[in-house]
Amino acid sequence: MCLFVETQYQCKHTCFELYLFCRELFHELNRINDPDQRAIYPLPFNPCCTSCEPYSFVVGSNAHLGPDGRCQAGIVRTNVVQRVVDLLERCPYCDEHGL
Ligand SMILES: [Zn+2]
Ligand SMILES: [Zn+2]
Repeated sequence: MCLFVETQYQCKHTCFELYLFCRELFHELNRINDPDQRAIYPLPFNPCCTSCEPYSFVVGSNAHLGPDGRCQAGIVRTNVVQRVVDLLERCPYCDEHGL
């Protein structure tokens, strides 16, 4: 399972950065070092691993949102290990699109 760091920007955009990649993704990346694999063009890149995308969901029947908007009384399953709020930097999306 890949792990991510989530950054929230002032513009309300959210970006995810890979924090730690899983074995599947590691093997997939390592194919670039294999001459036989490298000979195949274009090099397919498909780790076939659903947990390689950032996700966050709540399990538990009595889960509800608390007054602060955070989830209470449920178990949050996520592969986001850290959440950062960045009020100083421009987000990469806005920067790229000149917003
Ligand atoms: Zn992964
Ligand atoms: Zn933005």
